[in-house]
Amino acid sequence: MPEELLWDILEKQCEEGVAFMAIHCGINLMTIHRLNKQGYRYGGLVSKGGSYLTAWMLHNNRENPLYEKFDRVVEILKKHDVVLSLGNGFRAGAIHDSSDRVQIQELIINCELAEVGRNMGCQTMVEGPGHIPIDEIEANVILEKRMSGESPFYMLGPITTDVAPGYDHITSAIGAALSSAYGADFICYVTPAEHLGLPYPEDVKQGVITARIAAYIGDMTKLKKRGRDREMSIARRDLDWKKQFDIALTKDEALRIRNERQPKNEDSCTMCGDFCASRILKGVFDDAIKQGGKFQAALFMSLSISEFDFI
Ligand code: SF4
Repeated sequence: MPEELLWDILEKQCEEGVAFMAIHCGINLMTIHRLNKQGYRYGGLVSKGGSYLTAWMLHNNRENPLYEKFDRVVEILKKHDVVLSLGNGFRAGAIHDSSDRVQIQELIINCELAEVGRNMGCQTMVEGPGHIPIDEIEANVILEKRMSGESPFYMLGPITTDVAPGYDHITSAIGAALSSAYGADFICYVTPAEHLGLPYPEDVKQGVITARIAAYIGDMTKLKKRGRDREMSIARRDLDWKKQFDIALTKDEALRIRNERQPKNEDSCTMCGDFCASRILKGVFDDAIKQGGKFQAALFMSLSISEFDFI
């Protein structure tokens, strides 16, 4: 690949109107040296752009032009108001490589570049891994935030175990919720087809819904957003089914399950049927709240003898 082709395509895609670009500027001769010195990688390199650029550098025995002429990258993206996402080409693509020296080496370079990009007036964010066990997620977020001067962190999942193919939308949602709670700003959806094949539209749908739930859970901690859950708690307690579906992030699936399992008593559901705890105590907690938390009195006043015996 002639170097000019790289710059031409960069310019062309910016002109076509992309909103952000993942560009592997953090792979350089130092990163490759670190990989050689480390001497192992259980999962190899899993980034297409990262492996392509590494092969180009080794083949031409040259520095990565996207690192060497980083100013040029920034000027092009800035001119077209495109967000620069500093790609994670040496990300851990296997749990056993998580937070290894090569990954951290690239993170250091990307954090340096994020500062340069920001100072040049380009919107810049740093990409994170990849495959990371849950006890290392917080450290990765702290390092990125500290070393980049609080640049936005774009977590690719992370996938939190390698042994659940077919369910990687869930392994990554666990990682995404935690990384978001710890301060990551942008997450990447993963589909059930990850590591297995090209996703079908239904896989994409599952991946996006799952990632959306993960982002919401992260925001509950990061942004202290709990109001929607409070509303849902009250709707469930009061058996207000319409409100429950209106509040749900996943209304369609919730309605599908409810409608195919119609209970004998419209108020309850088929899980507990006649033993529905919420129906037995309906109205009690509302009264208790209004009376300033006098729950015990409200509870015993509300129960009829037959219900009390039944409990
Ligand atoms: S039947 Fe059980 S699960 Fe269903 S609404 Fe009542 S308490 Fe909840």
